[in-house]
Amino acid sequence: MDQGVPKPVPDALLARLMAALGPKGCVTDAGEIAPFVVDERKLYRGRTPAVLRPASTAEVAEAVRLCAQARVAIVPQGGNTGLCGGATPHEWNAEIVLNLGRMNRVRALDALNYTITVEAGCILAQVQAAAADADRLFPLSLGAEGSCQIGGNLATNAGGVAVLRYGNARDLVLGLEVVLADGRVLDGLTGLRKDNTGYDLKQLFLGSEGTLGIITAAVLKLFPRPREQTTAICALEGPEQAVELLARVRADSGDMITGFELMNRQCIALATARVPGVPEPLASPAPYYVLVELSSAASASLLKETLEASLGAALEAGTITDAAIASNQAQGRAMWRLREAIPESQKIAGGGIKHDVSVPVSAVPAFIREAELRVRAELPAMRVFAFGHVGDGNVHFNLVWPEGEDREAFLARWPQFNRIVHDVAAGFGGSISAEHGIGRLKREEFLRYAQPIEVEMMKRIKAALDPLGLMNPGKVLPD
Ligand code: FAD
Ligand code: ZN
Repeated sequence: MDQGVPKPVPDALLARLMAALGPKGCVTDAGEIAPFVVDERKLYRGRTPAVLRPASTAEVAEAVRLCAQARVAIVPQGGNTGLCGGATPHEWNAEIVLNLGRMNRVRALDALNYTITVEAGCILAQVQAAAADADRLFPLSLGAEGSCQIGGNLATNAGGVAVLRYGNARDLVLGLEVVLADGRVLDGLTGLRKDNTGYDLKQLFLGSEGTLGIITAAVLKLFPRPREQTTAICALEGPEQAVELLARVRADSGDMITGFELMNRQCIALATARVPGVPEPLASPAPYYVLVELSSAASASLLKETLEASLGAALEAGTITDAAIASNQAQGRAMWRLREAIPESQKIAGGGIKHDVSVPVSAVPAFIREAELRVRAELPAMRVFAFGHVGDGNVHFNLVWPEGEDREAFLARWPQFNRIVHDVAAGFGGSISAEHGIGRLKREEFLRYAQPIEVEMMKRIKAALDPLGLMNPGKVLPD
């Protein structure tokens, strides 16, 4: 437990919040609260006397002001799909959850400025759809897009499957509206692409996981909608060839790659065995696979021909051993379905010890080889699932419980396997959290690998923006 247990939430505060937000905006029924106090992976189960569901920025500001006055901490929450426990309150029933789900309006779309202004509680898929309706693309895309919220995406600086072309969530933001820890509103909803007037304050809140303020709205960048897309699955001997293939296809296509996902055989075997409607992608099994997608917004870009020629040359050079290019949209979607089934199948198989690391793209093969070797030296039967956004050097290196082993005993070795995998990543100059953030789960790991000067600067920023320590305490940094 972190330091002393805070005091319970005063009844007078709950009454004021109820008066300010109404019964729809202030949920106190234990049954209704239940889904808001447990995280996606069920690693944490917290307690809160109330879940606030404000419907406007003014209501968020008023709620934050009242909580600050009463010195009660707030846990901001979006779609609650985060993988690090950041949106879950602690166990001591002394924090209030503030969920943005009712703030789900698209405030504006400026097709000529290629921007969309959305409230934080918009579901990611809703933002994508609004952009598509205007013949534009909002490129952020990830497995949880049907339930995660844009506010959560920005608060975690989410990554996903299109980062190599369009960047992380952070790169897609032009302006931000934030309710600060004292309840004042920072209105930074600008749609400017150029603005060099001092510090870029919005960047502080992007990736801050609710520890500096509450994001209530954002101006996001849009792009031309792809007119042509082509997808393929390739078989390879190892991750070394995947990195070679990436360089080749980047060059051959003039950087048209929008997806480049690595999957080892374990991933494919489990996904095809456990998730209904997901067939083997190629005639015979291979040690590794890559899903590659090219996209172009031009009307006649000959993407399929380009990919065919590039993969043909890769086959001849021995970089790949087989490939299937989707001949229509449905086949392309089925290839992505296979990729999406990978985390699902691991959940079905009992879950396990996940790692979300990144290393320089060129170091991905050496990272995978060494981490696998060192993990197997400790537990030869370990099921190693290496997959992910290899185009960004981001590997999800997941260790799944070997069937027949004692599950509890396996999970008890979590810290030991974290240490091995994170040490290997750090040895290649990597990060222990490429896209999922720190939350509560990776706080100690973060403190272990960060430079002391980085942690000191973060603590100073936290103290400057949240002097009472009421914004999501105990997440990212120690309380
Ligand atoms: P939540 O889980 O509700 O919150 C996450 C953090 O942000 C918490 O610390 C919370 O306090 C804070 N927060 C939320 N909203 C706000 C706000 N408005 N203002 C301030 N702070 C806020 N992540 C990736 O990066 N890439 C992936 O490819 C990816 N794939 C996923 C696939 C699946 C199947 C699942 C379940 C998750 C995946 N994730 C992925 C993780 C997760 O979906 C993302 O991190 C997502 O961005 C979280 O959004 P959310 O709205 O659910 O946030
Ligand atoms: Zn991912």
